[in-house]
Amino acid sequence: MRDDNGNPDSPVKNSFTRRRFLSGAALATGAAALPGFSKFSVADTPSKESFQQTEPDLILYNGNFWTVDSRNPRAQAVAISGGRFLAVGSNDDVLHLAASRTRKVDLGQKTVLPGFIDAHTHPAEAGRLHLRQVDCDLRSIAAIQAALRERAAKTPPDQWVLGFKYDDTKTSDGRKLTLQDLDAAVPGHPVLVTHRGGHEAFANSPALKLAKIDNTTPNPTGGEFEHDASGHLDGRINERAIEAFDKVIPSTYTRDDYREGVKLIAKMMTKTGITSVGDALGSPETLQAYQDARDSGDLLFRVYCFIYYAWLDRMIAAGVRTGFGDEWVRVGAMKQVADGAISGRTARLSQPYIGHPNDYGTFSATEEELYEYGHKAYAAGWQLGTHANGDVAIERVLNVYERINREIPRKDPRFRIEHCTLINDSIIQRMKALNAIPAPFSTYVYYHGEKMQYYGEERLQHMFALRTFIDAGLRPTQASDYPPGEFPPMMALQSEVTRTDMNGHVWGANQRISVEEAIYVGTMNGAYASYEENLKGSIEPGKLADLVVLGRDPFKEDPSTLVTIPVERTMVGGKWVYES
Ligand SMILES: [Zn+2]
Repeated sequence: MRDDNGNPDSPVKNSFTRRRFLSGAALATGAAALPGFSKFSVADTPSKESFQQTEPDLILYNGNFWTVDSRNPRAQAVAISGGRFLAVGSNDDVLHLAASRTRKVDLGQKTVLPGFIDAHTHPAEAGRLHLRQVDCDLRSIAAIQAALRERAAKTPPDQWVLGFKYDDTKTSDGRKLTLQDLDAAVPGHPVLVTHRGGHEAFANSPALKLAKIDNTTPNPTGGEFEHDASGHLDGRINERAIEAFDKVIPSTYTRDDYREGVKLIAKMMTKTGITSVGDALGSPETLQAYQDARDSGDLLFRVYCFIYYAWLDRMIAAGVRTGFGDEWVRVGAMKQVADGAISGRTARLSQPYIGHPNDYGTFSATEEELYEYGHKAYAAGWQLGTHANGDVAIERVLNVYERINREIPRKDPRFRIEHCTLINDSIIQRMKALNAIPAPFSTYVYYHGEKMQYYGEERLQHMFALRTFIDAGLRPTQASDYPPGEFPPMMALQSEVTRTDMNGHVWGANQRISVEEAIYVGTMNGAYASYEENLKGSIEPGKLADLVVLGRDPFKEDPSTLVTIPVERTMVGGKWVYES
């Protein structure tokens, strides 16, 4: 995982064939490429009248529904037919619609919200990692060693033992993994453990040997093989030096593995109340994986699949653009990356990182590069989604969007700024003029609080700036960026409402939003960011029957315990995809 700065689905590593893509694309059934993608949501929604003659398959009643529909915010019951809401109202209103074949479920006054939309995450990739690698999100180096040792015992000696989600700030040892730690745990297999932030990896001796790295190997441009005080490799590798391992670790994922990865992550995410995701770095393989999972009945959530810019030419050649697909698998925005990461301290900032006076972070693309691909994609009918964390990087992306907007006027462009972390007044004014969409990290304040010290109290008042976005009339989304960030929507709610980390430290209290606003951000705004606000994001007649049943009511919960609210059931398209 490279947190968007590297490229997990490297076009260099993954062979692409036009034939393979076309066969996959043919599976994206339903509404074919929709003309003028701002219109498709309307076309997808049957009229209210057509529902009145339909018998419901299912009625959920005795519920405490928060619908996110301002005309009808509270309800007790819903009727569902053909995977969509047929009626929303009081028990009396809805129950009398029941026919003899209608199933009725008593919700026992449980709180129901629309299904959550994680607008920026990396589900297909995360699923494959969970399938094959050791989850190193553990609280001590000894626990990580034990997990690696256990995996090695089940792994043939010539094969790699790979770990992911390691985070040195989350272990009790107060130091990073070393070569000695890894050699002691696994002496006989090559081992590579990647850091959660994506910018560092940790290798053992067999791994360094296979990659032909010794004490005298020069560092590549933009990366480093780190050494200890006596000049010996210490097993730590950062940034582009990690590419040395890409060449020697066989990419062994089959098409079935891709599908299995989607199956696994869809289970993990729907269990927390997520019913739709934006895959923020899709490739032809991931698009195919979502379609394969759908065919095998394993696609439990809906996907808006961004396509990384490296694949753009082939997509355009195949006549594919944003909006192609249907309510399950849809082609999303064209993705580019302007700068580094927040957790890796590589976001490009106007002021240096605290404690690192000469470090302002790094750009990942020039303005001309962003413009070249952005213009080409936009002209071909694509929405644009560009990763930009630091204020300087966001300004660069706005320069590009403003220029494209002047050159190719479009009624409803919905330019997206992925992460859009550190803002200022000028950025907000320019975003407002474009009506651009920010997709800020939803759980970083709560989960990654210990990393906020590099940004400082003052700067945190302008980071993950939901209050500022909403007050300016912008429509920010909920976005986990998993694996780097945690994805449970209840954690996002707590993080956004309290701005307090796991240890009780408050970061940027001025950016707090209400529970009601946080739910809106996680539902309707996610739908809007993918042009699907008439299809999902609220519980109202005609919309897709995606919802979550909670064990407690977030409106009545102490904000500091929102994360503990249990998710009891999740429904997608009128079917329970998770039941506790
Ligand atoms: Zn991302």
